[in-house]
Amino acid sequence: MADTDQVATELAAMRERNENGDLRDFAFNDAPRLLAAVEAVLDRHKPEGRSWEVVRCARHRLGSSVVTTEMRTCPDCQFTERVTCWQSKCADEGWPCKDYEAISRAVARGRGEP
Ligand SMILES: [Zn+2]
Ligand SMILES: [Zn+2]
Repeated sequence: MADTDQVATELAAMRERNENGDLRDFAFNDAPRLLAAVEAVLDRHKPEGRSWEVVRCARHRLGSSVVTTEMRTCPDCQFTERVTCWQSKCADEGWPCKDYEAISRAVARGRGEP
């Protein structure tokens, strides 16, 4: 398991370099690592359309739970693809998941948005 204290220490050092004006060091050494960190998280939180919500018509409401070919071509049965996060723990949140939204908000703030 990764040493979370080590990560916190690294981040604190980066923050200090940024605040102290060690911008060359920050830009060349810290920024690429921060980008890699965000990208590593984003790689685990990406949209994946993988489940179908089926609303069965009156004719197909009863019977087996198996979705038949007949249902797939039925004009009255409705199939909606539900986009979820690739990370199975986020799947119930739909897309975008809360983790992706948190990153998205933080990145937007960097552009001067509230
Ligand atoms: Zn997610
Ligand atoms: Zn049907």
